[in-house]
Amino acid sequence: MSGFFERLFAGRWIAGPGVEDALREARRLNRLGIAAIINYLGEEYHRRNVVDDAVKTYIRLIREIGKRKLKADISTKITELGDLIDKGLAEENYSKIVDFASKNGVFVWLDMEEHRFVDDTFRLYVSKVKKGNTGICIQSYLRRSLGDIKRLPGGATIRLVKGAYSEPGRIAFQTREKTTENYSVLMSYVFKHFDRFTIATHDTSLLQKAIEANKIRRKNVTFAMLKGVRSNYARKLAIDGMKVSVYVPFGKEWIPYSFRRLREAGNLKLIFRSVFGG
Ligand SMILES: Cc1cc2nc3c(=O)[nH]c(=O)nc-3n(C[C@H](O)[C@H](O)[C@H](O)COP(=O)(O)OP(=O)(O)OC[C@H]3O[C@@H](n4cnc5c(N)ncnc54)[C@H](O)[C@@H]3O)c2cc1C
Repeated sequence: MSGFFERLFAGRWIAGPGVEDALREARRLNRLGIAAIINYLGEEYHRRNVVDDAVKTYIRLIREIGKRKLKADISTKITELGDLIDKGLAEENYSKIVDFASKNGVFVWLDMEEHRFVDDTFRLYVSKVKKGNTGICIQSYLRRSLGDIKRLPGGATIRLVKGAYSEPGRIAFQTREKTTENYSVLMSYVFKHFDRFTIATHDTSLLQKAIEANKIRRKNVTFAMLKGVRSNYARKLAIDGMKVSVYVPFGKEWIPYSFRRLREAGNLKLIFRSVFGG
């Protein structure tokens, strides 16, 4: 990354501009006993050529993950796969990626974007859920999420997050407290009804609850965090014997992602710590 702002804001959260940067970061994490979830940055595409580039990049990434035997999933978005150009195109691209990943032993996540894309994301996900190597992100700030989880077909895999976009009050809880409360509700449901899922948060109270719940329920739980956020804690969980993954974005489209992270960091002290600190 060349520019000052890229180094300042994105350097900590993003592996670098190219596929090799992401693979290097995955290898580094694997050595620490942590798996990677690799995302090629890009969203809300309106041009066919950039969508094609994203699909080619994921195919290359999957091939390399398989060849190098890395512990790494990939994570994409429906608007990166062309949903805003043609819904059929996104479906075709997602299907191609999931099928190729299946042959290479790689797991494919669908990120969840703004609320206007939630229905399409579920539609795509459900079309491939039987393949067994794909999972969907669920956001606890959305009022609809418990219903969505209940409607998922058997064999679905969930990654539970709080949600990173600014959404209106009729659709989403507006406070961290309510969002966290709903996260607990969703987490209890998931622990009861699912065997394999990912708890993706940096919130200590939720992580503790999940660890306690798993002592009783003994599910196949992965704890996932974002690159550059609470890295020491992720490492501690791995040392304590938990399954841990870190979400590793790479690519040149760093601005929307970095601004979502800055908003979460919440205040200047946290921003300073998350950019420069440990
Ligand atoms: C693996 C993974 C995948 C994700 N995928 C999606 C997705 O597909 N769609 C989506 O909408 N969102 C996604 N998110 C983001 C998620 O929705 C939240 O926006 C983000 O994780 C912050 O929420 P939190 O649960 O950590 O709780 P918060 O309440 O935001 O944070 C809890 C604590 O973590 C620390 N912290 C959190 N963020 C930062 C930061 N940026 N810098 C420094 N400290 C911080 C602080 O100590 C804070 O008090 C993903 C998150 C993870 C971990």
